[in-house]
Formats: sequence, C-alpha cells, structure tokens
Amino acid sequence: MKHVAILGSTGSIGVNTLNVVRAHPNRFKVVALTAAKQVDLLTEQCAEFKPSIAVVADPDGALRLSKLLLEKKINTEVLCGSQALVTAVTESGCDTVMAAIVGAAGLVSALAAAQAGKRVLLANKEALVMSGDLFMQAMKQGGGELLPIDSEHNAIFQCLSSQFSTDANSSLGVEELWLTASGGPFRNTPLEQLESITPAQACAHPNWVMGRKISVDSATMMNKGLEVIEAFWLFGLPLEKIKVLIHPQSVVHSMVRYRDGSVLAQLGQPDMRTPIAYGLAWPERIDAGVVPLSLTQMAALSFAEPDLERFPCLSLAFAAAKAGDTAPAVLNAANEIAVAAFLDEGLPYLQIPVVVEKVLHSASFVKADSLELILDVDARARQLAREFIKEILCKQ
Ligand code: NAD
Ligand code: MG
Repeated sequence: MKHVAILGSTGSIGVNTLNVVRAHPNRFKVVALTAAKQVDLLTEQCAEFKPSIAVVADPDGALRLSKLLLEKKINTEVLCGSQALVTAVTESGCDTVMAAIVGAAGLVSALAAAQAGKRVLLANKEALVMSGDLFMQAMKQGGGELLPIDSEHNAIFQCLSSQFSTDANSSLGVEELWLTASGGPFRNTPLEQLESITPAQACAHPNWVMGRKISVDSATMMNKGLEVIEAFWLFGLPLEKIKVLIHPQSVVHSMVRYRDGSVLAQLGQPDMRTPIAYGLAWPERIDAGVVPLSLTQMAALSFAEPDLERFPCLSLAFAAAKAGDTAPAVLNAANEIAVAAFLDEGLPYLQIPVVVEKVLHSASFVKADSLELILDVDARARQLAREFIKEILCKQ
C-alpha cells in the first residue's frame, strides 16, 4: 500500500490523480491533500479520502474547512500557510508525493519531498525550472525516486533504457530528446489577430484540459520552453540535444533518438491519467481509466519545426536556458506575473513576451545555489515584472 500526499489536489492534475487513486483502493491510501482556496472541493475530497492532514492557504479558509469537516465528522487535521505544505509532506506518513501546485508556490514543498527521500511525482515543472541543480541534488541526497508527470517527460522516461541515469547517458547511446508540442490554440491564427486574444480563447486548448496558467503557457509556448529546461535537469543532456517538434495531434508524447538510428516514442491519448498512473505504480502498470488509443481512427500524425516568430516566449526560454544560473528562475517569475496580469488585469496577450524579455534584460544572473537566493531572485523578478506591467497598462 502506497501512502500518497497530493499537493494541489483541487487542480487539474490533483483531480486526475484522485481519479486514478479512487480506482485502486487496495494500492493507494491518501494521507494528505492541499489546496489554495477551493475549500468546498477540498471538503468533498477529505470526506471521500479521509486524509490525516489537509492544508489551505489562509486562516479563513482553514476555519471554514474545519467547520465543514466537523459537520461531516471527518477527523482530518486542518493546517494553513506555506509551511504547512511542508508539514503535509514530512508529517503525514506519506511515501509518495504528487507535486501538483502550480508555479513557484510549489517549490518549497516539492523540495521538501525531495530532501525527505519520497517518491516525487513531479508535475510542478516551475519548481525544477527555478531550482534544477538544487532539486536534483536534494533528490540524490534524499535517496527517493523522481518520476516526471509532465506528459513529455514521462514519455521520455518511458523511452529511456532502465539503466539510464543522468551520469551515464552517453554510454547508453542517447543522441537527442524530441519534445513534442501541440502548438496550442494559435498555431495557425493569423499573426495580426494575436493582438486581441482574450483569456477565454487562450485557455481553450485544442487537445488538453488543464489549469489556466499552463493553458496560457501552452498558447504562448512558454510551456514548451519551461519543459526544455525541465528536460535538461531531469535527463542531464546538453541543451543542444533537446529539440522541440510541433505535433498538433498530441498523440506522440515525446521521443528519444538513439545512436544506432532507433527512435523510441511513447504514444497515448492526451489524458494526464496515463502519466499519473505510470508514476504512481511504477515500475508496474495499472489501469488508468483511459480510453484505448486507436491509430486507425486517426487521419495522420504530423511533425514540424516551431515558428519562433510566432512564439517569442519559446526563444526567451531557450535564451534563459542557455544563460543558466538564475536566468530560468527570472524567466519563470516574470512569466507567472505576466500571465496572471493577462488573465486578470487586461494585459494584452502580445505583451506577455514583452514583459518577460524586459525583466530578463534588467536582471543579472548568479549561481542558483541556495533556496533563499532563488526565492529572493524570484521576488525581485516579480516586482520588476509588476512595474513594467503597470507602465504598459497606464499607457493604454
Ligand atoms: P491548476 O491551476 O488546475 O491547479 C493548481 C493547484 O495548486 C490547485 O489545487 C490550487 O489550489 C493549488 N495552488 C495554487 N496556488 C497555490 C498556492 N499559492 N499555494 C498552495 N496551493 C496553490 O493547475 P494544473 O493544471 O493542475 O497544474 C499543476 C502543475 O502541473 C503546474 O505546474 C503545471 O505546469 C503542471 N502540469 C499540468 C498539466 C495538466 O494537464 N494540467 C500537465 C503537465 C504539467
Ligand atoms: Mg507537458
């Protein structure tokens, strides 16, 4: 029986994780659930899965959750605040942690899971983008297992030989990793129409149903840029060996090209329950509740190079990846603020890359060797991004 903590249980990945867990009551026991503000959904989840700990972001939410759980006679300890996310990892008795909080807010708890030697199911790519070196060291020192949940990285993990380790890839003949990308909802939209894109349009992904932030990142392709950095840390290959391919059908989730000419791919439905089930049960495979893939019902699978003019966020992410040090943390922070401003404050869609570029140009990068330093860099980059956004919105 695996004891599972789900950080971000009310989000898209969190709900899908519970969906898989629900189908396998003899394999998985949920011991901690966390959410920012969605108290009603968290209450329902606690009533069903009876974790020992539940965490929300603030005291008001905690009070409401406690009351609701008392009414239902559910004996779950309710905590709040960011440190409580770490408690959910270290004190719940979990051996497996689904890190599915969105953005930098998930960094400290994901790192705590790495340090504590848990099986870390990593959906929260931003954590790795910000602190790749530190995170991979923490995994090594903690002695746990890191299983990527991002579909592309999960696919690559599945296509690598079982002896693969980040230190030994050259001897195993891995030449390149090919990350596939759907190209999002604006792959073919005339460039002049991008100016007036609304949040609803940007969040309407053609193939995947996801949270709002990652949906916008998929539209700008910042998501793929973050994933290149994620792959760099997870698999230890030089950046020039990590390629991006546009594949609108989202059936091939990624590929590995080997020295002998073989290219191994993982195919499947665009349904996150497949990588989630893989991570939960690895090295076994369990039923994920996913509809079988039928290749004969598919018109064609196509692949193309990404258009960097259409997707400037992808170029910015490549540049930050190349610069290294704290550049990816700055990129991530600026992007989080710009995306939030696009979603909630009327920042025009095309200004997202403008803000990110300005922040990257204004920041200087240093070695990302401590959590304190990374959090400080993150806070400063956010502040800078807010200032640039204020200027842009004032001019409108
Ligand atoms: P989401 O917005 O649907 O859910 C986010 C979860 O995090 C929610 O439970 C929310 O309450 C919680 N949360 C948000 N802010 C928080 C804060 N400040 N403190 C504590 N908790 C907070 O997001 P999602 O789509 O499920 O994505 C989660 C992560 O997984 C992201 O890093 C995303 O990039 C990654 N991911 C998602 C998908 C997908 O299909 N949704 C695929 C690949 C990777
Ligand atoms: Mg992905």
